[in-house]
Amino acid sequence: MNQNLQDFSATFFEIQNANNIVITSHKSPDGDSLGSSLALYHFIKKFNSKVSVCHPDQAPYFYNWLPNLNEINLFQNNKEVVTRNIEKADLIFCLDYNSYDRLGSEFGALIEESSVPKILIDHHQNPTIDALISISNTSIGSTSELIFELIYNSNSLSKLDEKIATYLYLGIMTDTGSFRYPSVSFRTHEILAELLKTGMNHSTIHEHIFDSNTIDRLRLKSFAIVDKLELLLGYPIGIITVTNEELNRFNYQKGDTEGLVNMILSIEKIMVAAIFIEHEDGVKISFRSKGDFFVNELAHNYFEGGGHKYAAGGFSSEKLDLVVSKFKKLISGGFYA
Ligand code: 5GP
Ligand code: MN
Repeated sequence: MNQNLQDFSATFFEIQNANNIVITSHKSPDGDSLGSSLALYHFIKKFNSKVSVCHPDQAPYFYNWLPNLNEINLFQNNKEVVTRNIEKADLIFCLDYNSYDRLGSEFGALIEESSVPKILIDHHQNPTIDALISISNTSIGSTSELIFELIYNSNSLSKLDEKIATYLYLGIMTDTGSFRYPSVSFRTHEILAELLKTGMNHSTIHEHIFDSNTIDRLRLKSFAIVDKLELLLGYPIGIITVTNEELNRFNYQKGDTEGLVNMILSIEKIMVAAIFIEHEDGVKISFRSKGDFFVNELAHNYFEGGGHKYAAGGFSSEKLDLVVSKFKKLISGGFYA
């Protein structure tokens, strides 16, 4: 963390001196992108009222309980407002992403081509964003932890309130698999203790995220486990493929397959899990792994994606069958040998 200390002070200085700040994060929002964005938004508002959050697209429905979620400007729905915000900005935050392609092509190009100084706060490998200040720490489990460190190292812990704590708790919880991944440290728990001191209600956050299945969502996941799970013979690997027709059968809503890939990894001796979901515009792939098995290179080198050692994803415009057979060939060809 030491190498980041000066960067936190410099970031705080920039926040206090900017006139118009825009906070951006990646497409297909998750708890960490939403939590870090909204926490930073409310923190900045305490010093500098001109700040907005601009995200590429909408959050899944199980985040609808989040306070002030509707204050996030969505490029997907309102290109004019977002484009105007970017044009007026004199400081742009890039949270929880390492390259512009994580924003989608059009929004990504808008941010990339903007000459406004950027501050990157992220925990993914190999950042390619040219930033005035780059706080990129791959040993930290979530961007939300880095936002806490920004608040802490700006001597602003007194500004941490229940709402900011709720956002940060959500981000840390979702990106650490409820505080269980190897990235969790004693510092993570110190941070959680500081968050709880604000009086925030942690157990309702768990309920909102984990006890919020629709019956269709639970049935889709159950169907996927019962009928679509395949264990690759001779390998510690399990995969699930879901077609677009199957999604429609269970009235799929965005976010309904979240967590499915982790269910594969819960099988004993399974070290690598993959899901291939056929959407209208292509196949979305999610990888998870454990121990000595890493998935980021697999996602980056073969599936137009990337991510972390133990959680990565990708996308393919090819047919579902072709994408799955490409994966199987990589495995039988000795990718994990
Ligand atoms: P998920 O499987 O939950 O969609 O994604 C897991 C992680 O993989 C994300 O946190 C992100 O870091 C990475 N990831 C997922 N999809 C993509 C993608 O299309 N491109 C890149 N570069 N990373 C991805
Ligand atoms: Mn994250």
